[in-house]
Amino acid sequence: MEEIIFERDEKGDILPTIQNFYKFCGQGRLMAVKCTKCNKLLAPPRMLCPSCYSSDLRWIQLSGRGQLRTYSMINIAPKRFASQVPYTVGIVKLQEGISLPGRIMLDKPGDAQIGMDVIVDFEPAQMDGWPQLPRYFFRSVNKTSG
Ligand SMILES: [Zn+2]
Repeated sequence: MEEIIFERDEKGDILPTIQNFYKFCGQGRLMAVKCTKCNKLLAPPRMLCPSCYSSDLRWIQLSGRGQLRTYSMINIAPKRFASQVPYTVGIVKLQEGISLPGRIMLDKPGDAQIGMDVIVDFEPAQMDGWPQLPRYFFRSVNKTSG
């Protein structure tokens, strides 16, 4: 397996870049950066906090659990996803209070429901297409009966 090499600053800290965000996905971790000045969470990460413009940001791991806020079914997709239609994309409000867009993987495309509990999962980088980065997606949490 290919070694994951993060982009780091001169102190050795992992930079808050989109590339590093996806490299964490390759390790099976959904990460955000947290502003150490105002505690704002940013996912995907940015180099500067949009609230207080601090660049003192630290990576933290997210639970990956949340609820589906809104979704739409994709019937006409870009070429590289064309074989996968219809599929569902949505916005998930995570337990940490931030929202993240993503693919919603369902047994049946019509199974999406606003408010449903979802959990993050990961797929390896696709060999075709660019960029060749691992991706995250969300799937429904099977409710235990009883
Ligand atoms: Zn801030």
